[in-house]
Amino acid sequence: MFIETRGNDGIKPTKVPFSYAILNPSASFGGLYVPETLPKIDALFFENAATKSYKEITLDILRLFNIDIEEEIMQKAVSLYDNFDDANNPTPLSQIEDDLFVNELYHGPTRAFKDMALQPFGYILSHLAQKLNEEYLILAATSGDTGPATLDTFANKPNIKVACLYPDGGTSDVQRLQMTTQKSDNVKVIGIHGNFDDAQSALKSLLASPTFKEALEKKNIKLSAANSVNFGRIIFQIIYHIYAYVAMLKQAKIENGKPFYTIIPSGNFGNALGAYYAKKMGLPIEKILIASNINNILTDLITTGVYDLRNRHLLQTTSPAMDILISSNVERVLCDKLGATRTKELMESLKEKNIYTLNADELALLQEDFAAVYCDDAFGKEQIKHYADKGYIIDPHTATCLKAYQTLKVKPLPCVLCSTAEWTKFAPTMLNAINQDSIKYSDKEALEGISQSLHVKIPECISTLFNEPVIHDKVVEKAGIEAEIFDFLNLTCKKDCK
Ligand SMILES: *Cc1c(COP(=O)(O)O)cnc(C)c1O
Repeated sequence: MFIETRGNDGIKPTKVPFSYAILNPSASFGGLYVPETLPKIDALFFENAATKSYKEITLDILRLFNIDIEEEIMQKAVSLYDNFDDANNPTPLSQIEDDLFVNELYHGPTRAFKDMALQPFGYILSHLAQKLNEEYLILAATSGDTGPATLDTFANKPNIKVACLYPDGGTSDVQRLQMTTQKSDNVKVIGIHGNFDDAQSALKSLLASPTFKEALEKKNIKLSAANSVNFGRIIFQIIYHIYAYVAMLKQAKIENGKPFYTIIPSGNFGNALGAYYAKKMGLPIEKILIASNINNILTDLITTGVYDLRNRHLLQTTSPAMDILISSNVERVLCDKLGATRTKELMESLKEKNIYTLNADELALLQEDFAAVYCDDAFGKEQIKHYADKGYIIDPHTATCLKAYQTLKVKPLPCVLCSTAEWTKFAPTMLNAINQDSIKYSDKEALEGISQSLHVKIPECISTLFNEPVIHDKVVEKAGIEAEIFDFLNLTCKKDCK
């Protein structure tokens, strides 16, 4: 069962099953759902895991959670990993230093790690909506990776519609085309004039709009969310951390039971939360190292105990998926460590005063599991170049992790770095790093440039994007979004309604 991070308001149920938590991800007082208890895994689990595939291990873990999803549905959801580059090994583990392994999480259909969770999650959510005979609208604002992965997983799925907002000019060409060429007619993609913050605040005002609410109610459409506040995504993000250890065991790089570090390029903290839960379940992680870019609010929190939004504004970097100031999933760790009453207090302080401060004991609790550091774009580019020269390609998000590898690893233990995107999504930055120039390349030029100079193939799902018709060509002002979505819902209804 799942409980709430900010306690219960006396109206919502106090404990809910998994299916409820993923269909209605918003808990009392604006909190989130968290598992009441976590299952345990031990040395025997890892011994048995050595002969199992990623899919089998995923099913084992899902069964341990004992969630209210039928076995057959879980199997179908997990079979979506068959669409990854290697169905038997969707998350290859590559060794790039004696003590450094890269957990490549980007081999799915949209070339970012968001697919790891969104692919199976999309299947389960659509199944639940069909079972309840309900229609859901998923609203998403994206800085570039969530959008394509959300659209891909829900394309043509029954009982689900998706409206996705992206900042026009704020994403790479590849990311934009992954969204605007989407053919399925249950999705709508809308560019907005402004940056990611504007897209996100547009979405928030839409959710608060009475006319919008009323229109949805009239059509009997419910709202849900597909960002990492939804526990349905987090559950799948626990598994690849566990699998990385299994892969090290399979490759005889570590002894069963011996600890390792993991490094995570963080934004909304979903990936890091998955590692935290895995550690609590029994995965022997020495410490979770949190990497940030110059939007270093997580570094501040973990090193000083202060989460301070005052006088901060979002800075644009070459790792845009980590350009974030409000990191939603930190709340789940706070709740686990400090309880719901204190978490509610801290979250209210953040909302009202733009700051919260942990006391020394609370900070010590956080530092038991986490350490953090940040780097700037110049550092990231050096690392991209350094490893490209050695024959290994890392994207600008993954590159931020090398600062943590160099400065936070205090014990001589193996280290697993989570690689969150393929280079193809950020090709201009990659070519700037490799050529050590600052020319403004187009994505297409940069993809071809890198493909030639590093002798790598561009995956077909990326190269064909440039020849596909753009279906969603609307770019509107913030004020025009509601009308666009109304239009979309009416249109699809004409086709679907009896
Ligand atoms: C989403 C994303 C991140 C941040 O992950 P969180 O789970 O939100 O911390 C990092 N890198 C890439 C490439 C991403 O798409």
